[in-house]
Amino acid sequence: MIHRISKQQVKEAVQEAYDKVKGMTGGANANYIPYLANIDPNLFGISVALPDGEVIEAGDTEYAFGIESVSKVPTALLVMKQYGANELLSKIGADATGLPFNSIFAILLENDHPSTPLVNAGAIAADSMVKPIGNSFGKWKAITSFLEELCGSPLNLINELYKSESETNFNNRSIAWLLKNYGRIYDDVEMSLDLYTRQCSMGVTAKQLSIAGATIACDGRNPVTGKQVFPAGLTPQIVSLIATVGFYEHTGDWLFTSGIPAKTGVGGGIVGVLPGVMGIAAFAPPLDDAGNSVKAQAAIKYIVNKLGLNIFSDKHATIETVDRKQTEQAMA
Ligand code: GLU
Repeated sequence: MIHRISKQQVKEAVQEAYDKVKGMTGGANANYIPYLANIDPNLFGISVALPDGEVIEAGDTEYAFGIESVSKVPTALLVMKQYGANELLSKIGADATGLPFNSIFAILLENDHPSTPLVNAGAIAADSMVKPIGNSFGKWKAITSFLEELCGSPLNLINELYKSESETNFNNRSIAWLLKNYGRIYDDVEMSLDLYTRQCSMGVTAKQLSIAGATIACDGRNPVTGKQVFPAGLTPQIVSLIATVGFYEHTGDWLFTSGIPAKTGVGGGIVGVLPGVMGIAAFAPPLDDAGNSVKAQAAIKYIVNKLGLNIFSDKHATIETVDRKQTEQAMA
């Protein structure tokens, strides 16, 4: 069954979610990365990007925060773009670890079997695969250009965050060298770790994240710029990775209660992808015990529930989008 949703309904749901969730308390900023601990905890924004390029926003959607683990999604896509999905599957894998994002235990348990590019270990391995191999500058350019194309606008590195993470990422250093021991790093170890740390420190807005989500939802075509950013056909693979491990060991709870594949980051951002329907992002710094933004989770759940967008439902949503060019021409 297909049920139609009007843009007006989407706008109302976004505003309602904002009004209801804004005053919510609970959670705390990530404290293991000093820069994140000091971000204003009251920042809060919601953004929905639709396949016709319209973006519906409420709150602080233009504030650039640390993308953190959400950056694992674009790098996994870039690796699939450069090598094909099968190579990613054989060199890294697509299995949820069921353990926290930075688990060393998971690597020890699966030393014969790579896990997923959406946990720290797999993300560092993914960075090691990015071409051009051996060329730190070229790899960084590839990673950031691809991220910008997904988001449809320029992004900046948050230098202070990068410094903060580089000075405190001892656990990730252990992960990188342990992976090397198991033959799962495909380029220089320190370079791969540094690329991962840097990509986590990119600043991104909720609006940009929602557009990146919509680009994935539209099978690689950025609905705002019109550019085909990755080969059509990769959306099912990347969305399957997001669905299985987007919330790490709490992914099942998330899917069970929200009905939307989504990826979190400790910077307070969450991006959800509904293939063919929308990209949705929310941002607020205070995190729950598992490292996921309290308000961003609540806002996305509210909108998905209100609009009946649960992907496991028998009803499949379609949003009545209007060709903006046609409307603009008609109004001229
Ligand atoms: N840069 C963070 C780390 O590697 C990202 C963690 C996250 O967002 O889940 O610890």
